[in-house]
Amino acid sequence: MSGVSKWETVECPPVGKEDGRLGGLAGRRWWSWYWLVAALCVAVAVALMAWSVVTSAEERGEAEAAFTAEDGALPDDLSVTAFDTRYPSIARLDGELLEAVQEATRDALEEGIVLHVTSGWRSEAYQRHLLDEAVREHGSREEARRLVSTPEESRHVTGEAVDIGPTDAADWVVRRGAAYGLCQVYANEMWHFELLAEPGGDCPEHLPDAAG
Ligand SMILES: [Zn+2]
Repeated sequence: MSGVSKWETVECPPVGKEDGRLGGLAGRRWWSWYWLVAALCVAVAVALMAWSVVTSAEERGEAEAAFTAEDGALPDDLSVTAFDTRYPSIARLDGELLEAVQEATRDALEEGIVLHVTSGWRSEAYQRHLLDEAVREHGSREEARRLVSTPEESRHVTGEAVDIGPTDAADWVVRRGAAYGLCQVYANEMWHFELLAEPGGDCPEHLPDAAG
C-alpha cells in the first residue's frame, strides 16, 4: 500500500503539469492538427502508390508467365538473332522472310551492326494478349490499334513480319533493307519489317500506323 501512495505522490504533480502544458498549447492546436492530417494524407498516398505498383507488377508477371516460347514470346534482352531457329518465333517465320533477314544479318555484321529479332512469329493467343495489354496501357482500343494489330490482321501471326532491334540495327534495315526485299511498313514503327519488295526493288509507301 505504501508503494501505491508513493506512486500517487510522485505521479500526481506531473499529471497536473501536463494539463497545464496542454492548456498552454491550445492556441497552437490547429497547427498540430494541420500537420497531423497532412502527415496522414502523405502516409496514405504513399501506401496506395506502393500497393498499386506491387499489384500491377504481380498481374503483369502472371500474364507474361502464361505465354512461353511456344507462343512466339522471346526474351527481351536482345539475345536472339534470325539464326536462333530453336525459338518458334524464328523457326515459324515465312521461309523467304527468314532467309532475307539472315542475309541482311550477315551483311550488317560486316559493318559492325548486330541485327536482333525482338519479335517474329506469334500465336494468335499471344497477339491477342499483346493487343489487350496495349489497350490497358493506352486507355483505348483505338489508340492501341495504332501500335498492335488484331490476331486476324497481324502479319506476325502469319509469320510474315519481324521486329528488329536495337535502334541502330532497325535503322540499318530501314536504310538497306530494300536490297533484301525488307521494307518498313508503318511510319510509326521503324522496327517492323515485312518482305514487300523484290530484292533490290522499291518498297511501297509507308502506312501511317498499324490501324491505317
Ligand atoms: Zn512488328
